[in-house]
Amino acid sequence: MGGTVQEILRGGGCEEGEKIVLPSRHHLVETIEMMQFVPEGAEKDIKREKSIARELRKSGWWKRKCAGGACYYCRVKVPPGELTMDHLVPLIRGGRSVKSNLVAACKECNNKKKYLIPLEWEEYLSGLDREEP
Ligand SMILES: [Zn+2]
Repeated sequence: MGGTVQEILRGGGCEEGEKIVLPSRHHLVETIEMMQFVPEGAEKDIKREKSIARELRKSGWWKRKCAGGACYYCRVKVPPGELTMDHLVPLIRGGRSVKSNLVAACKECNNKKKYLIPLEWEEYLSGLDREEP
């Protein structure tokens, strides 16, 4: 474990202190930044993070997040009950169940994220007709 992140970051040429700037896709930059302090993913860590996510799903914070009823990725409006909790940086890559790493996603996006490799997922995102805030 741990090789994946390096692979993704390889070719980015990001030296220490240097920021990757992609203004129109700032969420991806955040994702990449988060991936830079990824610890070794141990299975028990993932289990723990999953249970934290389950707890957060019951929280008022999450309910408010879903109340808007829009998918974080494609911005499609869906009923709050159909939004799923998605980790921006997947747990398998060392992502954590913290509020800054959790977004509400529609089922379609969530599924895509699961079966696409990171590069394909990025292509999917860039192909979406998204409006940046
Ligand atoms: Zn979506």
